[in-house]
Parts: sequence; structure tokens; C-alpha cells
Amino acid sequence: MTPSAGDGLVLRIIPHGESDKLVTWYSAQSGRITAIAKGAQKSKKRFSNKLEHFSLLHMYYRPPRSQSGLHFLVDADLVQANLNLRQHYLKYLAASFITELTIRFTRELDPDPRIYTLLVWALTEINLSERFLKFPLFFHLQLLQLVGYMPNLSTCQSCDKALAATSTVCLPQQGAGAFLRCHECQPVQPARISREERTLSLQTMKMLLFAGRSDLATLRKLQPAQRCIQEGMDLLHLYSQHLLQTDLHTWRILRRYLPGQSRSSL
Ligand SMILES: [Zn+2]
Repeated sequence: MTPSAGDGLVLRIIPHGESDKLVTWYSAQSGRITAIAKGAQKSKKRFSNKLEHFSLLHMYYRPPRSQSGLHFLVDADLVQANLNLRQHYLKYLAASFITELTIRFTRELDPDPRIYTLLVWALTEINLSERFLKFPLFFHLQLLQLVGYMPNLSTCQSCDKALAATSTVCLPQQGAGAFLRCHECQPVQPARISREERTLSLQTMKMLLFAGRSDLATLRKLQPAQRCIQEGMDLLHLYSQHLLQTDLHTWRILRRYLPGQSRSSL
């Protein structure tokens, strides 16, 4: 039987047993797939230097033998190594955040070619750019849009008026509706959320609204202030964590390692 084939971005690789690996990738045709790569821990020949996090590979794989089984990864050809994502620690964290979000917000074998395009774009840009921290933010925002969870960033959750000044983050009680409140509607703050994470400036709000409806070519040129990137990331991080009811670790780690908040590395 001829194996299926297609380009896929490697999201995760974990050892499986003594000699195999479980490889999860995202492709335009099949969405997220996890396959077993037999002997990949030991075989230096077949998968050498190819099965790496964040690599874009041309995958050859077979369907599972039973309904509950795993796909089999037969072989892979390297398309784009994205080497900087594994050699530069901040880039590694930024890329890990993106792959973590992709795994959380997608289901197995539920393809959306737009998510694939967004994923490859974001990782390629992080790999090549010096000011790369805006890309995890733009990826997060556009991913929420594609999976149907775009937060309402323009009106107050309580009074429904358009937000015209710094607003306060207010996580929705049910579903994913509005989650910002205006000054007049001062919410009761959940104690576990810090002050920095709770407020959003009008500048950041406007940038997020603009970025949410921009195409990738426009986003590439957009240069938000560092403070806006951080505020936006904190906000979406809180929002997604609330939606998923699970911790998203990578942004907190990445935030901690920002080198003295210097502009050059953002
Ligand atoms: Zn209000």
C-alpha cells in the first residue's frame, strides 16, 4: 500500500518505549496527526537530523491498523529545518508557545489549511526575524479567530458601551463573550490575577483589534510597542487559559526570560 504523504510542521516529539518516538505534526490536508516512528530513537539512518521540533517535513505515513491505533510514520524528507528555533532559547520558547497553542486548540484529523498557513508563517518569521516576539501574539490572536473564540475587545462586558479608555480584564463566567470592562463598571477583581495582567491600555486594545482583522503580510510590517506586545500576550494568555481550563506554561516562562525588557531582542 502506498503511504499517504504531505508537508507537516512538527509540533511535538516524545520517546515511546525503548526505541520508538511519537511524533505529532500539523498538515494542511489532515490537520493534527500523531504517528509512531518505529526505531526512531536508535536508527541514525532513516530519520537522521530530520525528526526535530519545529521542522517542516514532507511526511510519508500509513493509517492505523485498528480504529484506536496510531498512524505509522514511514519516512520524512526535510523541507525547512527552522534551526534557529532550537538554537536560540527565546526563539525556542516563542515557538514552543505556538506549538502548545496549536495542540490545545486543534483536534486530531480535523484539518484547517488556514491554521497550517498561520503556523508555518509564524514559525518561519520567528526563525528569521530579530524582533520576533510580536509573532506569538499575532499567531495567538489569529488562531482564536480561526477556531471561533475571538474575544470581544471593543465593548464593555457590563454596560456594552464601546471601550474608550484603559479597561480591565474580566474573565467571562460562561462561554467566551466579552471580557473587558470599562472604568465605570469597576469589576470585583479575582485575587489570583496580578494588576499588570488585569489592565489593558487603549493603545493595546486598538492594536489587537487591528491585528485581528489584518492579513499576514500586514502583520509582518506591523511594529507594536514592546509594552503592547506584553499586555496583549498577558491578556490572551489569561483568556485562553480560562477557555481551555488548563495551564499554558510557555508564555510565563518566556516572559520571565525577556532580557531586561531590552528593545533589541524584541
Ligand atoms: Zn462598562
